[in-house]
Amino acid sequence: MSAVGAAAGAGVAVLERYEPVIGIEVHCQLKTASKMFCSCSTEYDGAPPNTHVCPVCLGLPGALPVINRRAVEHVLATGLAIEATNPATTRWDRKNYFYPDLPKGYQISQYDLPLAAHGRLAFETSTGPFTVGIRRAHLEEDTAKLVHVTTADGRTVSLVDFNRSGAPLMEIVTEPDIRTAEQARRYAEELQLLLRAIGVSDADMERGQLRVEANVSLRPRGAETFGTRVEVKNMNSFRSVERAIAFEIERQAAALDAGETLTQDTRGWDDTRGVTYVMRSKEDSQDYRYFPEPDLPPLRLDPAWLAEIRARLPELPAARRARYQAALGLSAYDATVLVNEPRAIELFEALVGAGIEPKRASNWVTGEYLRLLRRFSTADAAWLEPSRLGRELAELIRLQAADQITATNAKEVFEAHFETGQAIAAIIAARGFTKISDEAMLEGTVDQVLAANPSAVADVRAGKPQAIGFLVGQVMKATRGQANAALVGEVLRRRLGGQGG
Ligand SMILES: [Zn+2]
Repeated sequence: MSAVGAAAGAGVAVLERYEPVIGIEVHCQLKTASKMFCSCSTEYDGAPPNTHVCPVCLGLPGALPVINRRAVEHVLATGLAIEATNPATTRWDRKNYFYPDLPKGYQISQYDLPLAAHGRLAFETSTGPFTVGIRRAHLEEDTAKLVHVTTADGRTVSLVDFNRSGAPLMEIVTEPDIRTAEQARRYAEELQLLLRAIGVSDADMERGQLRVEANVSLRPRGAETFGTRVEVKNMNSFRSVERAIAFEIERQAAALDAGETLTQDTRGWDDTRGVTYVMRSKEDSQDYRYFPEPDLPPLRLDPAWLAEIRARLPELPAARRARYQAALGLSAYDATVLVNEPRAIELFEALVGAGIEPKRASNWVTGEYLRLLRRFSTADAAWLEPSRLGRELAELIRLQAADQITATNAKEVFEAHFETGQAIAAIIAARGFTKISDEAMLEGTVDQVLAANPSAVADVRAGKPQAIGFLVGQVMKATRGQANAALVGEVLRRRLGGQGG
Protein backbone atom coordinates (compact mmCIF):
# COMPACT_ATOMS: atom_id res chain seq x y z
CA MET A 1 0.00 0.00 0.00
CA SER A 2 2.73 2.46 0.98
CA ALA A 3 4.76 1.64 -2.13
CA VAL A 4 1.79 2.30 -4.40
CA GLY A 5 0.99 5.44 -2.44
CA ALA A 6 4.55 6.71 -2.75
CA ALA A 7 4.72 6.03 -6.47
CA ALA A 8 1.30 7.54 -7.08
CA GLY A 9 2.23 10.58 -4.99
CA ALA A 10 5.42 11.22 -6.94
CA GLY A 11 3.44 10.50 -10.10
CA VAL A 12 1.47 13.76 -9.88
CA ALA A 13 4.49 15.83 -11.01
CA VAL A 14 5.33 13.25 -13.69
CA LEU A 15 1.77 13.23 -15.02
CA GLU A 16 1.84 17.01 -15.61
CA ARG A 17 4.59 16.49 -18.17
CA TYR A 18 3.90 13.02 -19.55
CA GLU A 19 0.85 11.05 -20.51
CA PRO A 20 1.11 7.29 -19.83
CA VAL A 21 -0.29 5.05 -22.58
CA ILE A 22 -1.09 1.58 -21.30
CA GLY A 23 -2.53 -1.50 -22.97
CA ILE A 24 -3.20 -4.80 -21.25
CA GLU A 25 -2.88 -8.31 -22.65
CA VAL A 26 -4.47 -11.10 -20.68
CA HIS A 27 -3.99 -14.82 -21.23
CA CYS A 28 -6.76 -16.77 -19.63
CA GLN A 29 -7.01 -20.55 -19.22
CA LEU A 30 -10.47 -21.68 -20.26
CA LYS A 31 -12.58 -24.05 -18.19
CA THR A 32 -13.01 -27.13 -20.38
CA ALA A 33 -12.87 -30.86 -19.67
CA SER A 34 -10.36 -31.57 -22.43
CA LYS A 35 -7.55 -29.72 -24.19
CA MET A 36 -7.91 -27.44 -27.23
CA PHE A 37 -7.21 -29.93 -30.01
CA CYS A 38 -7.13 -33.37 -28.33
CA SER A 39 -9.11 -35.33 -25.75
CA CYS A 40 -6.47 -35.17 -22.96
CA SER A 41 -7.99 -34.07 -19.65
CA THR A 42 -7.27 -30.55 -18.39
CA GLU A 43 -7.33 -31.79 -14.77
CA TYR A 44 -3.52 -31.90 -14.61
CA ASP A 45 -3.06 -29.58 -11.61
CA GLY A 46 -0.90 -31.54 -9.16
CA ALA A 47 -0.62 -34.57 -11.49
CA PRO A 48 2.81 -36.14 -12.13
CA PRO A 49 4.58 -34.53 -15.13
CA ASN A 50 3.77 -35.80 -18.64
CA THR A 51 0.77 -37.90 -17.61
CA HIS A 52 -1.86 -35.87 -19.52
CA VAL A 53 -0.38 -36.19 -22.99
CA CYS A 54 -1.07 -37.77 -26.39
CA PRO A 55 0.43 -37.59 -29.90
CA VAL A 56 -1.51 -34.37 -30.65
CA CYS A 57 -0.38 -32.30 -27.64
CA LEU A 58 3.14 -33.77 -27.83
CA GLY A 59 3.33 -32.53 -31.42
CA LEU A 60 4.20 -35.92 -32.88
CA PRO A 61 4.38 -36.03 -36.70
CA GLY A 62 1.12 -36.94 -38.40
CA ALA A 63 -1.15 -36.24 -35.42
CA LEU A 64 -4.21 -34.20 -36.36
CA PRO A 65 -6.00 -31.56 -34.23
CA VAL A 66 -9.76 -31.57 -33.56
CA ILE A 67 -11.43 -28.32 -32.39
CA ASN A 68 -12.82 -28.19 -28.83
CA ARG A 69 -16.35 -26.81 -29.28
CA ARG A 70 -16.68 -25.72 -25.64
CA ALA A 71 -13.50 -23.61 -25.83
CA VAL A 72 -14.84 -21.80 -28.92
CA GLU A 73 -18.13 -21.19 -27.10
CA HIS A 74 -16.27 -19.72 -24.11
CA VAL A 75 -14.52 -17.14 -26.32
CA LEU A 76 -17.79 -16.34 -28.11
CA ALA A 77 -19.53 -15.91 -24.73
CA THR A 78 -16.73 -13.58 -23.61
CA GLY A 79 -17.12 -11.62 -26.84
CA LEU A 80 -20.86 -11.21 -26.27
CA ALA A 81 -20.27 -10.17 -22.65
CA ILE A 82 -17.86 -7.40 -23.72
CA GLU A 83 -20.17 -6.27 -26.55
CA ALA A 84 -17.68 -7.35 -29.22
CA THR A 85 -18.43 -8.26 -32.82
CA ASN A 86 -17.91 -11.74 -34.29
CA PRO A 87 -16.73 -12.51 -37.83
CA ALA A 88 -19.09 -14.61 -39.97
CA THR A 89 -16.23 -17.04 -40.54
CA THR A 90 -13.01 -17.41 -38.66
CA ARG A 91 -9.83 -19.34 -39.24
CA TRP A 92 -6.88 -20.86 -37.43
CA ASP A 93 -3.33 -19.72 -38.10
CA ARG A 94 0.07 -21.14 -37.35
CA LYS A 95 2.34 -18.88 -35.32
CA ASN A 96 5.83 -20.19 -36.01
CA TYR A 97 8.67 -19.92 -33.51
CA PHE A 98 11.08 -22.20 -31.76
CA TYR A 99 11.11 -22.75 -28.01
CA PRO A 100 11.55 -25.97 -25.99
CA ASP A 101 8.04 -25.66 -24.51
CA LEU A 102 6.48 -25.72 -27.99
CA PRO A 103 6.94 -29.23 -29.41
CA LYS A 104 5.43 -28.61 -32.88
CA GLY A 105 7.57 -25.55 -33.55
CA TYR A 106 4.35 -23.56 -34.02
CA GLN A 107 1.35 -22.61 -31.96
CA ILE A 108 -2.15 -22.88 -33.41
CA SER A 109 -3.64 -19.43 -32.86
CA GLN A 110 -5.77 -16.84 -34.63
CA TYR A 111 -4.18 -13.96 -36.51
CA ASP A 112 -6.39 -11.66 -38.56
CA LEU A 113 -9.82 -13.15 -37.79
CA PRO A 114 -10.18 -13.34 -34.00
CA LEU A 115 -13.41 -14.84 -32.62
CA ALA A 116 -14.28 -11.46 -31.05
CA ALA A 117 -13.23 -7.87 -31.83
CA HIS A 118 -14.09 -4.23 -30.96
CA GLY A 119 -15.46 -4.83 -27.47
CA ARG A 120 -15.37 -2.78 -24.29
CA LEU A 121 -15.42 -3.14 -20.53
CA ALA A 122 -16.69 -0.46 -18.12
CA PHE A 123 -15.88 -0.29 -14.40
CA GLU A 124 -15.62 2.12 -11.48
CA THR A 125 -12.35 3.72 -10.35
CA SER A 126 -11.55 6.07 -7.45
CA THR A 127 -11.97 8.98 -9.90
CA GLY A 128 -15.23 7.77 -11.48
CA PRO A 129 -16.41 5.35 -14.16
CA PHE A 130 -14.01 4.33 -16.93
CA THR A 131 -14.40 2.31 -20.14
CA VAL A 132 -11.57 0.42 -21.84
CA GLY A 133 -11.81 -0.55 -25.51
CA ILE A 134 -11.01 -4.20 -26.17
CA ARG A 135 -9.33 -4.78 -29.51
CA ARG A 136 -9.73 -8.53 -29.74
CA ALA A 137 -10.21 -11.84 -27.98
CA HIS A 138 -8.92 -14.94 -29.71
CA LEU A 139 -8.37 -18.61 -29.02
CA GLU A 140 -5.06 -20.45 -29.04
CA GLU A 141 -3.29 -23.35 -27.36
CA ASP A 142 -1.08 -23.10 -24.28
CA THR A 143 2.58 -24.16 -24.25
CA ALA A 144 4.20 -26.84 -22.10
CA LYS A 145 5.87 -25.82 -18.87
CA LEU A 146 9.63 -25.55 -18.33
CA VAL A 147 10.95 -26.28 -14.85
CA HIS A 148 14.50 -25.15 -14.09
CA VAL A 149 16.20 -27.15 -11.32
CA THR A 150 19.65 -27.40 -9.80
CA THR A 151 20.97 -30.96 -9.60
CA ALA A 152 22.85 -32.49 -6.63
CA ASP A 153 26.17 -31.82 -8.37
CA GLY A 154 25.31 -28.18 -8.91
CA ARG A 155 24.28 -28.16 -12.59
CA THR A 156 21.22 -26.22 -13.70
CA VAL A 157 18.98 -28.25 -15.96
CA SER A 158 15.64 -27.52 -17.58
CA LEU A 159 12.87 -30.12 -17.48
CA VAL A 160 9.75 -29.98 -19.58
CA ASP A 161 6.23 -31.02 -18.50
CA PHE A 162 3.76 -31.37 -21.39
CA ASN A 163 0.62 -31.63 -19.22
CA ARG A 164 -0.26 -27.99 -20.01
CA SER A 165 0.71 -28.31 -23.69
CA GLY A 166 -2.35 -27.72 -25.88
CA ALA A 167 -4.64 -26.48 -23.06
CA PRO A 168 -7.13 -23.90 -24.39
CA LEU A 169 -6.04 -20.33 -23.86
CA MET A 170 -7.93 -17.11 -24.60
CA GLU A 171 -5.94 -13.95 -25.29
CA ILE A 172 -7.71 -10.64 -24.66
CA VAL A 173 -6.01 -7.44 -25.83
CA THR A 174 -7.16 -3.94 -24.95
CA GLU A 175 -6.74 -0.77 -26.98
CA PRO A 176 -4.03 1.53 -25.53
CA ASP A 177 -6.78 3.42 -23.69
CA ILE A 178 -5.54 3.08 -20.11
CA ARG A 179 -3.85 6.11 -18.54
CA THR A 180 -3.18 5.17 -14.90
CA ALA A 181 -1.91 2.20 -12.90
CA GLU A 182 -5.19 2.11 -10.98
CA GLN A 183 -7.26 1.87 -14.17
CA ALA A 184 -5.09 -1.09 -15.23
CA ARG A 185 -5.65 -2.89 -11.92
CA ARG A 186 -9.39 -2.19 -11.98
CA TYR A 187 -9.63 -3.47 -15.58
CA ALA A 188 -7.95 -6.75 -14.60
CA GLU A 189 -10.20 -7.11 -11.53
CA GLU A 190 -13.40 -6.46 -13.47
CA LEU A 191 -12.30 -8.81 -16.26
CA GLN A 192 -11.68 -11.58 -13.72
CA LEU A 193 -15.12 -10.99 -12.23
CA LEU A 194 -16.72 -11.14 -15.69
CA LEU A 195 -14.88 -14.33 -16.75
CA ARG A 196 -15.91 -16.04 -13.51
CA ALA A 197 -19.50 -14.81 -13.75
CA ILE A 198 -19.97 -16.25 -17.25
CA GLY A 199 -18.21 -19.45 -16.18
CA VAL A 200 -15.48 -19.52 -18.84
CA SER A 201 -12.51 -19.56 -16.46
CA ASP A 202 -11.62 -19.78 -12.77
CA ALA A 203 -9.22 -16.92 -13.62
CA ASP A 204 -7.05 -17.42 -10.54
CA MET A 205 -3.93 -15.26 -10.94
CA GLU A 206 -1.86 -17.15 -8.40
CA ARG A 207 -2.50 -20.42 -10.23
CA GLY A 208 -1.54 -18.91 -13.58
CA GLN A 209 -5.07 -19.12 -14.96
CA LEU A 210 -5.10 -15.36 -15.55
CA ARG A 211 -1.77 -13.93 -16.75
CA VAL A 212 -1.62 -10.17 -17.11
CA GLU A 213 0.94 -8.29 -19.19
CA ALA A 214 1.08 -4.52 -19.61
CA ASN A 215 2.48 -2.44 -22.45
CA VAL A 216 3.56 0.89 -20.97
CA SER A 217 4.89 3.98 -22.75
CA LEU A 218 4.98 7.70 -22.05
CA ARG A 219 4.55 10.63 -24.39
CA PRO A 220 4.81 14.37 -23.69
CA ARG A 221 1.42 15.87 -22.85
CA GLY A 222 -0.32 16.92 -26.06
CA ALA A 223 1.81 14.67 -28.31
CA GLU A 224 0.06 12.36 -30.77
CA THR A 225 2.75 9.78 -31.46
CA PHE A 226 3.40 6.97 -29.03
CA GLY A 227 6.63 6.72 -27.06
CA THR A 228 8.83 3.62 -26.85
CA ARG A 229 6.80 0.74 -25.48
CA VAL A 230 7.96 -1.51 -22.67
CA GLU A 231 6.26 -4.83 -21.96
CA VAL A 232 5.90 -5.77 -18.27
CA LYS A 233 5.39 -9.42 -17.26
CA ASN A 234 5.37 -11.59 -14.11
CA MET A 235 2.71 -9.67 -12.22
CA ASN A 236 1.06 -12.33 -10.08
CA SER A 237 -1.59 -10.31 -8.26
CA PHE A 238 -3.79 -7.29 -8.90
CA ARG A 239 -1.70 -5.34 -6.44
CA SER A 240 1.47 -6.13 -8.42
CA VAL A 241 -0.24 -4.96 -11.63
CA GLU A 242 -0.80 -1.55 -10.07
CA ARG A 243 2.62 -1.34 -8.40
CA ALA A 244 4.57 -2.52 -11.48
CA ILE A 245 2.88 -0.02 -13.80
CA ALA A 246 3.28 2.85 -11.29
CA PHE A 247 6.98 1.95 -11.02
CA GLU A 248 7.37 1.74 -14.80
CA ILE A 249 5.78 5.17 -15.32
CA GLU A 250 8.22 6.70 -12.84
CA ARG A 251 11.21 4.87 -14.30
CA GLN A 252 10.44 5.93 -17.87
CA ALA A 253 9.77 9.55 -16.84
CA ALA A 254 13.12 9.73 -15.02
CA ALA A 255 14.91 8.28 -18.06
CA LEU A 256 13.19 10.71 -20.47
CA ASP A 257 13.93 13.65 -18.14
CA ALA A 258 17.60 12.63 -18.14
CA GLY A 259 17.59 12.68 -21.95
CA GLU A 260 18.03 8.90 -22.24
CA THR A 261 16.60 6.88 -25.11
CA LEU A 262 14.28 4.12 -23.91
CA THR A 263 14.69 0.67 -25.44
CA GLN A 264 11.82 -1.62 -26.37
CA ASP A 265 12.40 -4.18 -23.61
CA THR A 266 10.43 -6.96 -22.04
CA ARG A 267 10.72 -6.40 -18.30
CA GLY A 268 9.79 -8.59 -15.37
CA TRP A 269 8.29 -7.38 -12.08
CA ASP A 270 10.16 -8.21 -8.88
CA ASP A 271 7.47 -8.00 -6.23
CA THR A 272 9.87 -8.22 -3.27
CA ARG A 273 12.17 -5.43 -4.44
CA GLY A 274 9.34 -3.43 -6.00
CA VAL A 275 11.16 -2.88 -9.31
CA THR A 276 10.99 -4.00 -12.94
CA TYR A 277 14.10 -5.55 -14.53
CA VAL A 278 15.11 -6.36 -18.12
CA MET A 279 14.21 -9.90 -19.14
CA ARG A 280 15.10 -9.48 -22.79
CA SER A 281 15.54 -6.74 -25.34
CA LYS A 282 13.35 -6.81 -28.40
CA GLU A 283 15.58 -6.17 -31.41
CA ASP A 284 12.71 -6.11 -33.87
CA SER A 285 9.19 -7.32 -33.50
CA GLN A 286 9.44 -11.04 -34.16
CA ASP A 287 8.31 -12.40 -37.49
CA TYR A 288 6.13 -15.37 -36.69
CA ARG A 289 5.40 -16.17 -40.36
CA TYR A 290 1.71 -16.68 -39.67
CA PHE A 291 -0.11 -18.75 -42.27
CA PRO A 292 -3.49 -20.50 -42.28
CA GLU A 293 -3.48 -23.82 -40.39
CA PRO A 294 -3.79 -26.48 -43.12
CA ASP A 295 -5.00 -29.20 -40.72
CA LEU A 296 -8.17 -27.34 -39.65
CA PRO A 297 -11.09 -26.06 -41.72
CA PRO A 298 -12.31 -22.46 -41.37
CA LEU A 299 -14.96 -22.10 -38.68
CA ARG A 300 -18.33 -20.68 -39.71
CA LEU A 301 -20.24 -18.95 -36.88
CA ASP A 302 -23.89 -19.83 -37.30
CA PRO A 303 -26.09 -16.93 -36.03
CA ALA A 304 -28.39 -19.48 -34.32
CA TRP A 305 -25.41 -20.86 -32.40
CA LEU A 306 -24.45 -17.33 -31.29
CA ALA A 307 -28.04 -16.64 -30.22
CA GLU A 308 -28.01 -19.83 -28.15
CA ILE A 309 -24.78 -18.76 -26.40
CA ARG A 310 -26.21 -15.31 -25.77
CA ALA A 311 -29.36 -16.81 -24.25
CA ARG A 312 -27.22 -18.86 -21.85
CA LEU A 313 -25.31 -15.81 -20.53
CA PRO A 314 -26.14 -15.02 -16.90
CA GLU A 315 -26.73 -11.50 -15.62
CA LEU A 316 -23.35 -9.74 -15.97
CA PRO A 317 -21.65 -8.16 -12.93
CA ALA A 318 -22.21 -4.53 -13.99
CA ALA A 319 -25.91 -5.14 -14.71
CA ARG A 320 -26.33 -6.98 -11.41
CA ARG A 321 -24.69 -4.18 -9.41
CA ALA A 322 -26.98 -1.65 -11.12
CA ARG A 323 -30.08 -3.76 -10.42
CA TYR A 324 -29.22 -4.31 -6.75
CA GLN A 325 -29.00 -0.55 -6.31
CA ALA A 326 -31.93 0.60 -8.46
CA ALA A 327 -34.45 -2.18 -7.82
CA LEU A 328 -33.46 -3.48 -4.37
CA GLY A 329 -32.25 -0.25 -2.80
CA LEU A 330 -28.78 -1.47 -1.80
CA SER A 331 -25.86 0.94 -1.49
CA ALA A 332 -23.18 0.95 -4.21
CA TYR A 333 -20.77 -0.49 -1.66
CA ASP A 334 -23.01 -3.39 -0.62
CA ALA A 335 -23.83 -4.16 -4.27
CA THR A 336 -20.10 -4.28 -5.10
CA VAL A 337 -19.23 -6.51 -2.13
CA LEU A 338 -22.03 -8.97 -3.00
CA VAL A 339 -21.25 -9.12 -6.72
CA ASN A 340 -17.53 -9.73 -6.06
CA GLU A 341 -18.26 -13.13 -4.49
CA PRO A 342 -20.36 -15.64 -6.49
CA ARG A 343 -21.38 -17.54 -3.34
CA ALA A 344 -22.53 -14.28 -1.73
CA ILE A 345 -24.70 -13.55 -4.79
CA GLU A 346 -26.32 -16.98 -4.58
CA LEU A 347 -27.01 -16.74 -0.86
CA PHE A 348 -28.37 -13.20 -1.20
CA GLU A 349 -30.66 -14.26 -4.06
CA ALA A 350 -31.84 -17.25 -2.02
CA LEU A 351 -32.72 -15.01 0.94
CA VAL A 352 -34.53 -12.42 -1.17
CA GLY A 353 -36.32 -15.27 -2.95
CA ALA A 354 -37.45 -16.52 0.48
CA GLY A 355 -39.04 -13.14 1.14
CA ILE A 356 -36.34 -11.54 3.31
CA GLU A 357 -36.14 -7.77 2.90
CA PRO A 358 -33.09 -7.03 0.61
CA LYS A 359 -31.24 -4.64 2.93
CA ARG A 360 -31.58 -7.07 5.85
CA ALA A 361 -30.44 -9.97 3.64
CA SER A 362 -27.47 -7.97 2.34
CA ASN A 363 -26.38 -7.05 5.89
CA TRP A 364 -26.25 -10.72 6.87
CA VAL A 365 -24.46 -11.81 3.70
CA THR A 366 -21.86 -9.02 3.48
CA GLY A 367 -21.34 -9.10 7.27
CA GLU A 368 -21.58 -12.43 9.09
CA TYR A 369 -21.55 -14.74 6.05
CA LEU A 370 -18.42 -13.32 4.39
CA ARG A 371 -16.67 -13.08 7.77
CA LEU A 372 -17.31 -16.77 8.48
CA LEU A 373 -16.42 -17.76 4.91
CA ARG A 374 -12.98 -16.23 5.40
CA ARG A 375 -12.58 -17.73 8.87
CA PHE A 376 -13.65 -21.36 8.51
CA SER A 377 -12.31 -24.10 6.28
CA THR A 378 -15.80 -25.66 6.16
CA ALA A 379 -16.56 -23.47 3.13
CA ASP A 380 -17.13 -26.48 0.84
CA ALA A 381 -19.46 -28.31 3.26
CA ALA A 382 -22.79 -29.53 1.85
CA TRP A 383 -24.87 -27.44 4.31
CA LEU A 384 -23.21 -24.26 3.01
CA GLU A 385 -24.61 -24.82 -0.47
CA PRO A 386 -26.33 -21.41 -0.94
CA SER A 387 -29.96 -22.50 -1.43
CA ARG A 388 -29.76 -24.84 1.56
CA LEU A 389 -27.99 -22.28 3.74
CA GLY A 390 -30.47 -19.66 2.53
CA ARG A 391 -33.43 -21.67 3.90
CA GLU A 392 -31.85 -21.95 7.37
CA LEU A 393 -30.66 -18.34 7.48
CA ALA A 394 -34.06 -17.05 6.31
CA GLU A 395 -35.65 -18.83 9.27
CA LEU A 396 -33.16 -17.24 11.67
CA ILE A 397 -33.65 -13.77 10.19
CA ARG A 398 -37.45 -14.17 10.54
CA LEU A 399 -37.11 -15.15 14.22
CA GLN A 400 -34.95 -12.10 14.83
CA ALA A 401 -37.32 -9.80 12.94
CA ALA A 402 -40.23 -11.18 15.03
CA ASP A 403 -38.25 -10.41 18.18
CA GLN A 404 -37.97 -14.06 19.14
CA ILE A 405 -34.18 -14.13 19.31
CA THR A 406 -31.73 -11.33 20.05
CA ALA A 407 -29.21 -10.05 17.48
CA THR A 408 -26.26 -11.33 19.53
CA ASN A 409 -27.74 -14.79 19.94
CA ALA A 410 -28.72 -14.93 16.27
CA LYS A 411 -25.09 -14.34 15.26
CA GLU A 412 -23.93 -17.06 17.63
CA VAL A 413 -26.52 -19.50 16.23
CA PHE A 414 -25.52 -18.72 12.63
CA GLU A 415 -21.85 -19.27 13.42
CA ALA A 416 -22.63 -22.63 15.04
CA HIS A 417 -24.69 -23.65 12.01
CA PHE A 418 -21.95 -22.51 9.63
CA GLU A 419 -19.37 -24.57 11.49
CA THR A 420 -21.34 -27.76 12.22
CA GLY A 421 -24.33 -27.87 9.87
CA GLN A 422 -26.69 -28.49 12.81
CA ALA A 423 -30.19 -27.14 12.10
CA ILE A 424 -30.87 -23.56 13.25
CA ALA A 425 -33.95 -24.62 15.30
CA ALA A 426 -31.94 -27.37 17.04
CA ILE A 427 -29.14 -24.95 17.99
CA ILE A 428 -31.62 -22.41 19.37
CA ALA A 429 -33.33 -25.10 21.45
CA ALA A 430 -30.06 -26.64 22.69
CA ARG A 431 -28.67 -23.27 23.78
CA GLY A 432 -31.93 -22.05 25.30
CA PHE A 433 -31.85 -18.98 23.02
CA THR A 434 -35.58 -18.47 22.80
CA LYS A 435 -36.08 -14.80 23.49
CA ILE A 436 -38.12 -14.13 26.61
CA SER A 437 -41.00 -11.98 25.38
CA ASP A 438 -43.44 -13.28 27.94
CA GLU A 439 -44.24 -10.65 30.58
CA ALA A 440 -45.16 -13.17 33.25
CA MET A 441 -41.76 -14.84 32.86
CA LEU A 442 -39.97 -11.49 33.09
CA GLU A 443 -41.79 -10.14 36.12
CA GLY A 444 -40.11 -12.55 38.55
CA THR A 445 -36.65 -11.57 37.32
CA VAL A 446 -37.56 -7.86 37.38
CA ASP A 447 -38.69 -8.16 41.00
CA GLN A 448 -35.42 -9.89 41.96
CA VAL A 449 -33.37 -7.15 40.28
CA LEU A 450 -35.39 -4.39 41.98
CA ALA A 451 -34.91 -6.05 45.38
CA ALA A 452 -31.16 -6.42 44.82
CA ASN A 453 -30.62 -2.80 43.69
CA PRO A 454 -32.38 -0.46 46.15
CA SER A 455 -30.12 2.51 45.43
CA ALA A 456 -30.86 2.37 41.67
CA VAL A 457 -34.57 2.15 42.50
CA ALA A 458 -34.19 5.21 44.70
CA ASP A 459 -32.41 7.05 41.85
CA VAL A 460 -35.28 6.32 39.44
CA ARG A 461 -37.78 7.63 41.99
CA ALA A 462 -35.59 10.72 42.47
CA GLY A 463 -36.07 11.42 38.74
CA LYS A 464 -32.76 10.08 37.33
CA PRO A 465 -33.89 8.29 34.13
CA GLN A 466 -30.40 6.85 33.38
CA ALA A 467 -30.91 4.53 36.37
CA ILE A 468 -33.61 2.72 34.32
CA GLY A 469 -30.92 1.79 31.78
CA PHE A 470 -28.82 0.27 34.56
CA LEU A 471 -31.75 -1.82 35.77
CA VAL A 472 -32.57 -3.00 32.22
CA GLY A 473 -28.92 -4.09 31.93
CA GLN A 474 -29.20 -6.08 35.18
CA VAL A 475 -32.30 -7.90 33.91
CA MET A 476 -30.60 -8.68 30.56
CA LYS A 477 -27.63 -10.08 32.47
CA ALA A 478 -29.85 -12.21 34.69
CA THR A 479 -31.56 -13.67 31.58
CA ARG A 480 -28.26 -14.23 29.70
CA GLY A 481 -29.26 -11.71 27.06
CA GLN A 482 -32.46 -13.52 26.13
CA ALA A 483 -34.95 -10.98 27.39
CA ASN A 484 -36.71 -8.59 25.04
CA ALA A 485 -35.03 -5.35 26.14
CA ALA A 486 -37.95 -3.11 25.16
CA LEU A 487 -40.35 -5.26 27.14
CA VAL A 488 -38.00 -5.25 30.16
CA GLY A 489 -38.04 -1.43 30.13
CA GLU A 490 -41.83 -1.45 29.99
CA VAL A 491 -42.22 -3.89 32.90
CA LEU A 492 -39.65 -1.95 34.97
CA ARG A 493 -41.40 1.38 34.39
CA ARG A 494 -44.77 -0.09 35.24
CA ARG A 495 -43.42 -1.67 38.45
CA LEU A 496 -41.65 1.46 39.60
CA GLY A 497 -44.43 3.83 38.48
CA GLY A 498 -47.03 1.65 40.22
CA GLN A 499 -45.14 1.58 43.49
CA GLY A 500 -44.35 5.31 43.36
CA GLY A 501 -47.91 6.38 42.59
ZN1 LIG B 1 -3.33 -34.58 -25.83
